Amino acid sequence: MNIILLGPPGAGKGTQARRLVEERGMVQLSTGDMLRDARTSGTEMGKKVAAVMDAGELVTDEIVIGLIEEKIREGNPAGYIFDGFPRTLAQADALAELLSRNGAQLEAVIEMQVDDKALVERITGRFTCGNCGEVYHDQTKPTKKEGVCDVCGSTDLRRRADDNEESLRTRLMEYYKKTSPLIGYYYAKGDLKRVDGMAAPDEVADQIAKAMM
Ligand code: AMP
Repeated sequence: MNIILLGPPGAGKGTQARRLVEERGMVQLSTGDMLRDARTSGTEMGKKVAAVMDAGELVTDEIVIGLIEEKIREGNPAGYIFDGFPRTLAQADALAELLSRNGAQLEAVIEMQVDDKALVERITGRFTCGNCGEVYHDQTKPTKKEGVCDVCGSTDLRRRADDNEESLRTRLMEYYKKTSPLIGYYYAKGDLKRVDGMAAPDEVADQIAKAMM
């Protein structure tokens, strides 16, 4: 089963994708993570996208479609969770073509609905474990012991360079201008399901499970 988690930054896409990976053995394809990995490993592409990402703008369709194409070609029986991709209509068309070329299809597009005020609060307090990927928040989900990941004990806790109010404003604008038209696109195709992203994570997970039935 292949699904898209669609929603603005801070909607909880990454958190829910991680649960689906653990519970169902699906594979999370996050173009944001792939781009951050390219930056960390210092590839030419990583260097090229760094400033664009920090500003909160979208990198080119060509780059992200190339990243996804590589992964889809590897194949995976349990299905993919597309997290942060597609973000433009051109990417959505490319994804449909890539899947059909590989004998696969999209089963559901899950829109995670949240209000903007909550997004700012969620994003500006967010940090993650660089080792296991667990997501934390200064107010709503701090680590039990300061500076140490509850799950794996790592002290490599990181904040994203673009998780600040200024970049977030640009990221939200990019979302509304370029990504939100995908809601109408998938609605028209009959693939769109909506969940309440403001609910507690367990409740959101239940709603996603139902949307996937
Ligand atoms: P994310 O981790 O999904 O919030 O993505 C972080 C940043 O990576 C975004 O603000 C963009 O600069 C870039 N990015 C990630 N996915 C895409 C995509 N599908 N299309 C264009 N840019 C992307």
